[in-house]
Amino acid sequence: MKPKDFPEEIKPVIIPRQAGGLVYRCLGCGFEHDIKKLLYICPNCGQLLLLYDQDFDRLKKIAGEKWRQIFDYRKMLTIPALKGIYRYHEFIGPVIPLDAVVYLGEGHTPVIEANAFLQDRTGIRFYFKNDGQNPSASFKDRGMASALSYIHFLIQKGHASDVLAICASTGDTSASAALYASYLQTDVKSAVILPHRKVTPQQLSQPLGSGATVFEIPGVFDDCMKVVEALSEQYNVALLNSKNAWRILGQESYSYEIAQNFEYDMENKVVVLPVGNAGNVTAVMSGFIKFYETGIINTLPKIIGVQSKHANPVYRYYLEPDAGKRKFLPVTVRPSVAQAAMIGNPVSMPRVIHLTDLYNGMAEIQKVFFVEVSEQAIMDWELLANKNGHIACTHGGESLAGLVTAKDQGIIDKDDIAILNSTAHSLKFSGFQDMYFEKSFPPEFEISPDPNLINSPVLIHPKDLEKVPAPGKPLKGNDFEKFVKRMSEEIAKYLNLEEK
Ligand SMILES: *Cc1c(COP(=O)(O)O)cnc(C)c1O
Ligand SMILES: [Zn+2]
Repeated sequence: MKPKDFPEEIKPVIIPRQAGGLVYRCLGCGFEHDIKKLLYICPNCGQLLLLYDQDFDRLKKIAGEKWRQIFDYRKMLTIPALKGIYRYHEFIGPVIPLDAVVYLGEGHTPVIEANAFLQDRTGIRFYFKNDGQNPSASFKDRGMASALSYIHFLIQKGHASDVLAICASTGDTSASAALYASYLQTDVKSAVILPHRKVTPQQLSQPLGSGATVFEIPGVFDDCMKVVEALSEQYNVALLNSKNAWRILGQESYSYEIAQNFEYDMENKVVVLPVGNAGNVTAVMSGFIKFYETGIINTLPKIIGVQSKHANPVYRYYLEPDAGKRKFLPVTVRPSVAQAAMIGNPVSMPRVIHLTDLYNGMAEIQKVFFVEVSEQAIMDWELLANKNGHIACTHGGESLAGLVTAKDQGIIDKDDIAILNSTAHSLKFSGFQDMYFEKSFPPEFEISPDPNLINSPVLIHPKDLEKVPAPGKPLKGNDFEKFVKRMSEEIAKYLNLEEK
């Protein structure tokens, strides 16, 4: 359908216009700061910021039903700037003009229903939303599209030039930052700081391939984070970690997409996601709140944040039922297969506390939960999911393990339908699958492979076969015929095949 054929009442609003009064709002002192400058913390008190639309009430003047139609019609447009997270422009970044939008194919990731076997095994109806099918193969692209579109906008307006974008990373932030920055060559260059040997080879190859300057330093992610914080305080750089509130804004698209995917019916829905630096759970809560406030959804879904027992500071914080007695304590992380969430001192903790209160308050009942899972459960559920048609990464496995734990704890009701975030592509973390299949996990992981889940290649090389082909040395004639015959015999024997 072409826009000219859209209903008359949709036509004037189908292409979003630059609008809104976005400001940084401090979570500490409440002070609001102009967005002309890229800020990460409040210049007054040093606390974290969230982007807040002073003019948000204008969005409430449009009925929820009309918004739903706008987003559904926008789905049909072919304008690149509106094909990704900015389908929800009014909610994601209304000040960004469409010609500043950087679109590399992010967002609108597939939602795949679990097969009968998995639903039977877990006793829950659930779907994976495959955020590993984003351009750099993780959900981080949602936030980077937002942060880099904003930086692009500043450059276009002459408020910034020769930007050096930096980030600390457990692997995926740097892959995404380097990719989006490389698109804005030569105005933007990027440098990433990684904990030496704590990211997978695939993740390391990504920023290298995108042309970023890659630093590896001793320690874990939390140490890298301190270094980039120091750099961003003392030098003129653009920090791309989720401390940057533009990242959070872009990641809200995940919630909007779930709403749209389920026809805006959030009754009995449960959204499950892994929690590391806690930017994503912040964004997901914030997104659903905005759609709820504008009547686009009529119920707030349950949200379950999952942490590994080896990196569980958020879970521990909420173990104390009395809000007045809760005290945040960073933890020392231990090795985790959910390596991108292996964070002991999450930067977004103040945002989590703020939004969890707001979310539960609006729902008038507890809707946000945090659970912890073992490393064993993460691996076992990941592998089982992938044996059943999914492409979950270890963090997707963590989501599924968390769903099962939540069910055991009575957090999930019989009719609930869960949407699990598989935050990255399984291939980024296939090294953990290798360790599982080869039974080579170091003891610190506390994982003993289940023989039923192990799979390994079977080498077929019959002893009686003297000549075999090799690259550049093909077999010919009788030798080749014998090779094909013997190989097929052996494989048929292994598979117990019956002759036709
Ligand atoms: C970053 C990341 C996480 C953790 O998300 P936070 O926003 O830091 O809580 C989980 N999974 C993957 C694959 C990631 O890259
Ligand atoms: Zn402040």
